[in-house]
Amino acid sequence: MKQGGAPPTGKWVGSPQGGVTAPDPVLLPDPATRFAATAARLRVLADKQHPMATWLAFMGQLSEAQHRAATTLPPMAAIDLSLVDQSVAARIPPLAADGHHRNSAWRDGLAMLLDTLEAHDLPEPAVALGAHMRTRSTNDIEDLADGFLRGTLSVNEAGAALYVAAALQVYFTRLAGSLKADSLRLLPQRGLCPCCGSTPVSGLITASGATPGTRYLYCSLCSTAWNHVRAVCITCESSGKLSLKGVEGGSSAVQAETCDDCQTYAKMLYQSKDTKVDPFADDLASLGLDIMVSEAGWARHAPNPLLLVG
Ligand SMILES: [Zn+2]
Ligand SMILES: [Zn+2]
Repeated sequence: MKQGGAPPTGKWVGSPQGGVTAPDPVLLPDPATRFAATAARLRVLADKQHPMATWLAFMGQLSEAQHRAATTLPPMAAIDLSLVDQSVAARIPPLAADGHHRNSAWRDGLAMLLDTLEAHDLPEPAVALGAHMRTRSTNDIEDLADGFLRGTLSVNEAGAALYVAAALQVYFTRLAGSLKADSLRLLPQRGLCPCCGSTPVSGLITASGATPGTRYLYCSLCSTAWNHVRAVCITCESSGKLSLKGVEGGSSAVQAETCDDCQTYAKMLYQSKDTKVDPFADDLASLGLDIMVSEAGWARHAPNPLLLVG
C-alpha cells in the first residue's frame, strides 16, 4: 500500500467480528507527495520562533526543490520486477543502496535541485556550495554518490553530501514508488529498510488509519515505511531497557526512545499528540532533543543523511 492511501480491506487476523486488522508490513512512498509534505511541514516548523528557523526554512526550500525534481523529471526506466522478486526471495533489499546500479537519471535530479535552489534567495554558504557543485566533473559527482551510499565520505565533503543526498533521496524514492508493496518482505534485520537496506530517519506511531498505534520506521533514503514492533529497540532488538525522553517544555509529539542495552536512541513521533508530524521534517526540527540525549550518553542510531555536516 502507498503511504497515505486508503486503508486496506479484507485483511483480517482472527475473527472478523472481533476485528483486529493486521498492519501493512510495508508502505511505499508516493513521490508526488513525499517531498511536498516535508516542505509544508518545515514551513510551519520554521515559523514558530524556532531557534534554527533560517536553517529550517532553507531545508524547506531544499524539500520543495526535491518535490519539483520528483514530479517533473521524465519517467525513469522501469525496474525489472523479476529481479526484485529474486532479491526478496534471497532476503536482500531489491534496491540495496550500496549494490544498486544507479541510472544516470539521478544526476538530472541533482542538476534540477541546483537550478531550482539558485532561483531562491539562499543563505551565502548555500549559494557558494551550489556554485562549487557545478564545477565538479561527472566522475567526481558519481564518486561522491558512491562515498555517500557506502558511508565513506570525508568530512571535507559534508557540504557536497547535502545536495548529493537530497538528489539520491529523490532518485530512490521514485524507484521505491514504482514497486509493489506486496512484493516486498521485511528483512531479518528489522531495523533496516526492506526496499533499499538503509537505516530509518525516525519512527512514527500512528493514531489513525486501519491500525492505530502501529509503529512505522521511515527510510532515510528511499522513504519507504515499514512496520516495526513497538517496545523493541530498533538497533539491538532488545526490549528490557527502553525509555522515552522529551525536551521539557517542547513538543510531546517528538520523543527519543533510548536503549540502555546498546546505548543508542532513535526519535519517535506520536501522531496522537500532533496529527501533522512528518518523519523527515520533525526529525530536522528537533535537533535540540538530539543534543540533549547525546550529551546524556546515548548515540543516535544512525545519522540523518541531510545532516552529515554535523
Ligand atoms: Zn529504503
Ligand atoms: Zn538497543
